[in-house]
Amino acid sequence: MVKYMKPNNIDHIAIAVANIDDATKLYNQLLNAEPQHIEEVVDQKVMTAFYPIGDSSVELLAPTSDESPIAKFIAKNGTGMHHIAFKVSDIEKTLKELKDRGFRLIDETPRQGAGGKKIAFVHPKSTGGVLIEVCE
Ligand code: ZN
Repeated sequence: MVKYMKPNNIDHIAIAVANIDDATKLYNQLLNAEPQHIEEVVDQKVMTAFYPIGDSSVELLAPTSDESPIAKFIAKNGTGMHHIAFKVSDIEKTLKELKDRGFRLIDETPRQGAGGKKIAFVHPKSTGGVLIEVCE
């Protein structure tokens, strides 16, 4: 029997927000915490704020430009749940296996996400409507 890669953990759950300052004020209250770090991911035209929760995090994503994928997401869906990220130990192998099993990959090869992690996205059309990220 073929042994496929299995996620180790939920790395983070990402929420699309309109404005990082307003959203961090709200989440500081909600989680009684401050973000561990706030970082701009220039490539994706987003500001990110990470709140560690146990072994995973809540990630807020705010667009820094109308061209940002997050701006487009909010225009279409409104603010709210954006994606779930699963942590894997070998992202290249995981992507190959997901593709072999018929999942539609947005990223065939990993790119660099916040915190220098290797990340890739799986299209929500092939996952029942939820954008899935795998990260290493
Ligand atoms: Zn993410």
